[in-house]
Parts: sequence; structure tokens; C-alpha cells
Amino acid sequence: MSEERHNWTQEEILDIYNRPMMELLYEAATVHRAYHDPNTVQVSTLLSIKTGGCPEDCGYCPQAARYHTDIEGNDLMTVPQVKAQALRAKASGSSRVCMGAAWRNVKDGPEFDQVLEMVRTINKLDMEVCCTLGMLTENQAQRLAEAGLYAYNHNLDTSEDYYKDVISTRAFKDRLDTIDNVRKSNVTVCSGGIIGMGESLKDRAGMLVALSTLNPQPESVPINALVAVEGTPMEDMEPVPIWDMVRMVATTRIVMPKTQVRLSAGRTGMSREGQALCFFAGANSIFAGDKLLTTPNPDVGEDMEMFRMLGLTPQKAFVKAPQPKTVESGESALRPLGEKPRWTRPGHSIERNEAATARTRHGDPS
Ligand code: SF4
Repeated sequence: MSEERHNWTQEEILDIYNRPMMELLYEAATVHRAYHDPNTVQVSTLLSIKTGGCPEDCGYCPQAARYHTDIEGNDLMTVPQVKAQALRAKASGSSRVCMGAAWRNVKDGPEFDQVLEMVRTINKLDMEVCCTLGMLTENQAQRLAEAGLYAYNHNLDTSEDYYKDVISTRAFKDRLDTIDNVRKSNVTVCSGGIIGMGESLKDRAGMLVALSTLNPQPESVPINALVAVEGTPMEDMEPVPIWDMVRMVATTRIVMPKTQVRLSAGRTGMSREGQALCFFAGANSIFAGDKLLTTPNPDVGEDMEMFRMLGLTPQKAFVKAPQPKTVESGESALRPLGEKPRWTRPGHSIERNEAATARTRHGDPS
């Protein structure tokens, strides 16, 4: 079984993504079993502590102030409100609370002090605390670390090439700079992206190149399927086929063997069978609760029923990703790098997808 590699190329990753489905699933499940307990899934609860009114223009996001969506904005929640929600999340099986604020960047002052107090409060509940607050300076990352922050989420969203088609108010490099600032503290990194935004397969692979070549790789990588929200520029995007999610999860698992691959937005559009395939392909964390910041998510009871059906157990807090259990066993399952795939997915060649994507990018989804 290969160790964490930091020199994946776009070609190698595309080669993995396009393998025949059964081969891809087998390889991803083999890597997954070497590094993780396949019957354990980490459960996080995402809490929007400050909703709406964001000055950024992320094309997928209903919280951007410039788009006309149904989102009801709210000011920063109070510490007791957050504590009450965290206790509810813990009682329903979550080991992590992730607090999201619709800010471009963190500003020092009373609001940041309030967030620091939220972090301390949840930490005392023996839960992992994550924040997603926008861009951070090194000093702010350090202050969050001192308050007991476990993880900071800052998604790359897509490839560097496609980034400017999705967001114009900041650059891909800004994202990498914040991730770098988080890395300088002892806070773990959560960073992933969204598929279904009109990107090409090369963009999907490009995003995984950017994430997997970080050293160390992110401890958590959320893979989201776009939830197209009315009023956003991406309102008319077609839903992501489940097979694309399975391929993306499996490829992420193979190139980032130790990371927690998080099956994130878009689960309401997936069957239990589809989600089960994603778990088999290496997804080992989900967000619980009926809302993901502002978009719908399955009810906790439904998720727990799915866990019972599949024999999955929620992971306890503060469990580190284990080292490989077997060094030899996976090697034969992985096709040597550089060897060409024997098959290309029928009807889904890279060129074909590129052509479809080019049409979508120019507003013609036909
Ligand atoms: S994704 Fe975050 S930064 Fe972008 S518009 Fe939404 S809240 Fe703002």
C-alpha cells in the first residue's frame, strides 16, 4: 500500500477516475480498509452561526448578498444558543460541531472574540470543534488554536483553472494562503470542493491535484454535489449523477488514503444505495442535521436508520486516522502508475465531458 504521496499529476488522477467502476470500487475499498475501519463513519453537525449577507460572489452560494434567494439572514448567534445546539448534536451522535459564518474574512474585534468563546465552550463538551469563517491570518489561526479549535474548513471548491468561473471576488491563491496559515497552527485542515458546477473532468482532477499535493494532505476532504439554489447563477445546473459522486469519492480515497473523505452536500438527492456505494468507495464522514448551513440535508433519524441498516457506527471524538494495517495487501490491487487504463467509461470520455462542459459554461445546457 502506497504511503501518502504529494506528487500526483492530473493525468494519473484522471486515469484513476476513469477506471472501470468495479475496478475503481475494489481499489478504493482496498485502500480504505488499509487505513480506516470501514464500519465507522465520523458524524459532524454543521451550524450556521451567521447567515447571509456575504460580500463574496461564489456562484453556487445562496448566502451571497448580491443574489436574490430566500435565505433569511441572521446576526452572529450567542454563545448559549451555540452551546444548546452543540448539546443537541452530541445527543444525536455527532462528534464534531462545525460553525460557519458568511464572512469574506475574519476581522479582529468583538465578533471574533465571541467565536473564540464558542470554540472554548464546545471544546469543554468533549466534542471536536471546526470553524469555517472565510480567510484567516496566521495570528487569527493561532488564536483559534489556543481556544481549542480542532479543524478549520476552507474549501478549494474546484480546480485553479475553473476557479475564476465560479468566484471573482477572490483568487485560488487566497484559499491556499489561508490553508497555509491554518497549517502553521496545530489546527487540522478540512478542505474539499463541489462537483456539478459545469466543471470538466480535468477540473475535478485538478482540484484533487491541488489538495493531494499539499504536504501534509488535509485531514478532512468534503466532496459536495452542487445543490442548485434558485436565485444563484447556478440555479439551472443539472443534478450530479450518483456515479460521478462514487467516482469522485473513490478517487479522493485512493490519492488521499489517510484523510477523512466527507460525503457532504447533495445527500438528499441520493438513495441509500447510492450513499452505501460512497461509503464502500471510501467516504467515512457525513454532516448530520436537516440543514447544511442553508441547504437541505437528511434528517438525523433517517441517517441513524441508514447506519443501522448498513451496520455503521458513528466515530468517537478525537480519533486520529490510523496508519496502514497491512503494507503489502493493497499493492496488487492497484494498477501500476503510468500504465494506461484498459477501459474508458462508455459514453463518458474526457473529450465528451469537456464538450458538454463547454456548452454548460456558455449557458447552453443542451
Ligand atoms: S460560500 Fe462562503 S464566501 Fe462564498 S458567498 Fe457563500 S458564505 Fe460567502
